[in-house]
Amino acid sequence: MSSPDAPAIVLPGTSAPDHQSVRFGFENTYARLPERFYARLDPTPVAAPRMVKVNVELARSLGLDPEALASARGVEILAGNRVAEGAEPLAIAYAGHQFGHLVPQLGDGRANLLGEVMGRDGVRYDIQLKGSGPTPFSRRGDGRAALGPVLREYIVSEAMAALGLPTTRALAAVTTGQQVLRETVLPGAVLTRVAASHLRVGTFQYFAARGDTEGTRSLADYAIARHYPEVTRAKQPYRALLDSVIARQAHLVAQWMLLGFIHGVMNTDNTSISGETIDYGPCAFMEAYDPDKVFSSIDLNGRYAYGNQPPVAHWNLTRLAEALLPLLEQEAGDQEAALASAKEALAAFEPQFEAARMAGLRRKLGLFTERDVDAALAQDLLERMAANHADFTLTFRRLCDAAAGLEGGGGARALFADPSAYDSWAAEWRRRLEEEPVSGQARAAMMRRSNPAFIPRNHVVEAALDAAVNRQDFQPFEELLDVVSRPYEDRPDLERYTTPARPEECVSATFCGT
Ligand code: AMP
Ligand code: MG
Repeated sequence: MSSPDAPAIVLPGTSAPDHQSVRFGFENTYARLPERFYARLDPTPVAAPRMVKVNVELARSLGLDPEALASARGVEILAGNRVAEGAEPLAIAYAGHQFGHLVPQLGDGRANLLGEVMGRDGVRYDIQLKGSGPTPFSRRGDGRAALGPVLREYIVSEAMAALGLPTTRALAAVTTGQQVLRETVLPGAVLTRVAASHLRVGTFQYFAARGDTEGTRSLADYAIARHYPEVTRAKQPYRALLDSVIARQAHLVAQWMLLGFIHGVMNTDNTSISGETIDYGPCAFMEAYDPDKVFSSIDLNGRYAYGNQPPVAHWNLTRLAEALLPLLEQEAGDQEAALASAKEALAAFEPQFEAARMAGLRRKLGLFTERDVDAALAQDLLERMAANHADFTLTFRRLCDAAAGLEGGGGARALFADPSAYDSWAAEWRRRLEEEPVSGQARAAMMRRSNPAFIPRNHVVEAALDAAVNRQDFQPFEELLDVVSRPYEDRPDLERYTTPARPEECVSATFCGT
């Protein structure tokens, strides 16, 4: 942590005045839901809050003043030491299946929703403090977060946003001046998280587990109004809500698969109704392609392995459908018809997932047209990558160069343990490309928008967190943030961020760190 007399971080060109007013313009639609949906409580103040980072661009997109957020008053608010004007802090109640087991009450054990703000894009966003102290839902937890996991969520969620994926985002990180006890003593921190909402599959399960159909209905109506207003016109709005969530999740998980992202803890409480990636814990981008890859140290059976993510998402959506059954029954007429309706909705997951994945694979391979052989061509590449331990991100990025005719110095083939495995695949690929009257440049340009050069590689993330946590050096964190915020650009000076870990740098496990 920063030493107590170090100056607070001041944004370029600002003087960070002490008593700048911080205007969020909060609205509080969640706080208008029935009292049993949450527990009202303020964040717990901390000893010595210090600013680590304000997300200037995100703040502006939310109509917030980043200078005010970085002011002494802003830091107090972001640490939970002061309740912002208009905020109605609360901890949301939810349940969830954790590794397959239903926990009827989880809830925000270390988070406070402050309120909602309207973004410049017209979307309503939750502003939540994470790590802001114990709540009635804390169970045995201390309500706090350690600096490492806070910076990790900051980096990875911002990387996901820059990659173009639906995700919660990081508005700010502050240190608390307090220690948290995990395996060791660690500096504490609070993350300010921005989400389209914090509604989860587990939020529906909370009411379903209590047989509270009125609660389920209020929640479903809220979810529709907030995320899927178009379904109010449907003949069966609750069925249409289920269809919509399934479609968004199918699309989301397809995008994860296309980037080699492993969420790590796809419990139903970490599955959002809006279709955003949420709750970044032991997540990671894989390097060498391996469908069975698991990073999370707590995922002993590989339940949330890379290749299991689509069926797990389907499983989680099945839990959502179950929770919605009482509402579906009212729409469909009887129980049997409700079950048939739920099954029909769930059956749409796989084709929607496959369509999104295949469309993405075509873009990654530079294909502008659709042929039946494309799926086999993509699968063949993936299998050869797996057999040859080829780096997922780098292989696809180098294919862009190959498409542009710039394949010098080894290119993609050098990433394969047996380069001839690449050569024979590439010959097939080139035959397929020749069917399309597209210039190499145009093809490569499309491919470079789908195949990032920069992902937050695990060893680089770990090094940035280590510097921040153990040496109070936030420079590597800042640099990594800059790198991952422009993932599709070629930046030759940052070449070292594109390469996989050397064997001695390899990160084989990630930890929840809660
Ligand atoms: P997560 O693994 O972060 O998705 O959290 C699962 C559940 O554990 C949620 O109900 C969290 O609020 C709760 N939780 C995680 N860490 C803590 C903590 N340090 N103190 C209290 N509750 C926590
Ligand atoms: Mg969670």
